[in-house]
Amino acid sequence: MRSSTLARRVLRLAAALGAVGLTLGAAGTAQARPPVGTDVIDTTGGTGNVVGFTFDDGPNPVDTPRLLEVLRRHRVKAVFCLVGDQVEAHPELVRRIVAAGHTLCNHSMHHDDLSAWTPEQVEADLRQTSAAIRRAVPHARIPFFRAPYGAWGQAPTVAASLGMRSLGWRLAISDWEPPGTDVLVDRLLDGITPGAVVLMHDGGGDRSQTVAAVDRVIPILQSRHWRFTRPDPCR
Ligand SMILES: [Zn+2]
Repeated sequence: MRSSTLARRVLRLAAALGAVGLTLGAAGTAQARPPVGTDVIDTTGGTGNVVGFTFDDGPNPVDTPRLLEVLRRHRVKAVFCLVGDQVEAHPELVRRIVAAGHTLCNHSMHHDDLSAWTPEQVEADLRQTSAAIRRAVPHARIPFFRAPYGAWGQAPTVAASLGMRSLGWRLAISDWEPPGTDVLVDRLLDGITPGAVVLMHDGGGDRSQTVAAVDRVIPILQSRHWRFTRPDPCR
């Protein structure tokens, strides 16, 4: 018992020292922040039957509060990919998302296709978005970035330089149509695979079907011993 605890401590120390060294080497600064990869991840944390729910394009004054209530009732934490314009319109909802213990993701200021933008243009947009989020919640942690439409372009490198990991997905259920709650439930139950990040929407339109589908699917998955986790911010 004791020796394994000691081993874990030594490993953690070594990892911390390695991170410091890499950060110093890469950026020439004294910040001891672990380096953020530039790859686009689509897997959630943990092993076995784990799944990570992510919700884009909010906050939305109608469906985000409903979704927060559903997630609270089922004790599930998720990632919310916020659009800056929506953040500025509904800062109180950002505060509720954070207060409920969920994780934030920068989803750009205006939901533009960034794929043809220069790194400087992308950086200005991402900084503006994070600043809007932090006007709502000072010192908010924003460990992730997701490009609108999955049109990544130069954005993952820029996001990493700003301390955000690019968050893709393995399953999208096309809930923007929207096709009916039963169809969404089937797409989730048929499509979820171990470790998958799942893309859904709480903003950008009427998302009542998404909220209803999530409310039905979580207890089914939990009864099958699935666990809900969030992606690892650093690698
Ligand atoms: Zn989006």
